Amino acid sequence: MREVKSILKDYKLRQTDCREEILDVFINKHHALAHADVESQLTERFDRVTVYRTLKTFLDKGLIHKVLDNEGGVKYALCKDNCHAGDHLHHHDHVHFKCTTCGLTTCLDHVIIPNIILPEGYQRVETNLLMQGVCKTCSF
Ligand SMILES: [Zn+2]
Ligand SMILES: [Zn+2]
Ligand SMILES: [Zn+2]
Repeated sequence: MREVKSILKDYKLRQTDCREEILDVFINKHHALAHADVESQLTERFDRVTVYRTLKTFLDKGLIHKVLDNEGGVKYALCKDNCHAGDHLHHHDHVHFKCTTCGLTTCLDHVIIPNIILPEGYQRVETNLLMQGVCKTCSF
């Protein structure tokens, strides 16, 4: 929990039980989590709205990022240092990998999506790439 407190402080976020617990869940799980996954991991009961607001705050602050999953659902994953690497813009140009065996989606932080050239008149805002296959844990 000590790590959690210092992260919240670094991001200039007021410390609340809900924020601490949710951040702790993201740190301990190494895969993307849907709203329901986060809720089911919380030891104390927080209402849906509080959980929703906390996720929204974390998103806005750049603590977590969205992971678009294939079933139309949105998941969230913890931002790593390399979200801020390169230019000063916070970006998530890494590949997300969904394992068809265990069903977990993970950030492949060091696998960068190649630059894709768009036709004239198209402007990119963000790129999401979800690759599906068998993860490291499941292939052994
Ligand atoms: Zn990020
Ligand atoms: Zn797997
Ligand atoms: Zn990611």
